[in-house]
Amino acid sequence: MISSVKQNLSEIELKIAEAARKSGRDAKDITVIAVTKYASCERAEEAVQAGVVNLGESYEKGFLEKKEQLGDKVSWHFIGSLQSKKVKNVINKIDYLHSLDRMSLAEEIQKRAEQTVKCLVQVNVSGEVSKHGVDASNLNKFLQNLKEYDKIKIIGLMTMAPLTENESEIRKCFSELNRLQGEIKSLNLPNVTCEHLSMGMSNDYQIAIEEGATMIRIGTALVGE
Ligand SMILES: *Cc1c(COP(=O)(O)O)cnc(C)c1O
Repeated sequence: MISSVKQNLSEIELKIAEAARKSGRDAKDITVIAVTKYASCERAEEAVQAGVVNLGESYEKGFLEKKEQLGDKVSWHFIGSLQSKKVKNVINKIDYLHSLDRMSLAEEIQKRAEQTVKCLVQVNVSGEVSKHGVDASNLNKFLQNLKEYDKIKIIGLMTMAPLTENESEIRKCFSELNRLQGEIKSLNLPNVTCEHLSMGMSNDYQIAIEEGATMIRIGTALVGE
């Protein structure tokens, strides 16, 4: 039997509180994004009933279906890699884009967005070739190049930990994103506030919180596979 989202959420909230306490943080500063990319509309609805107010989707089709059904009672986070040709269909329907990873995408957003879009730059901290994201070494330059793009507001950085069971490697990735955030904030770039760190998924969100995550993206542990 699969457990209810409500039950999963209360277990996750306990673990968030524990990680926050351990690192001297306030659990209120951590936003849970329920990743529903593999979940049905019914299951997403159940998450909303359980009190979730942020949903994350990775694919255009699934996003549009759920948005149609659930509307504006939640905030919508697009967390998947976004092809430029799909920008026009999604960009004016989302509240946050977590996966800004290239200039050509920024250009398309600038062209299609009707209002300023809150974006996070996806950073490939681990350097795995399979991963999307701006290389950490190119991040400053990437942000400098965005300054003409007034439809884009950079509210944070996003990353995915390397695929490993090695906790210290995962932690290193998250703490590096935190360090990069500090570096960027000190540049005071226009359109860049960078107050958020979107990091941590079902298997590593407690580590991410200890390393400063303000947005955690949880699929499996919350709504199931
Ligand atoms: C699928 C996905 C998640 C959620 O992963 P889980 O391990 O199921 O919690 C988080 N972030 C991104 C970018 C994803 O694609």
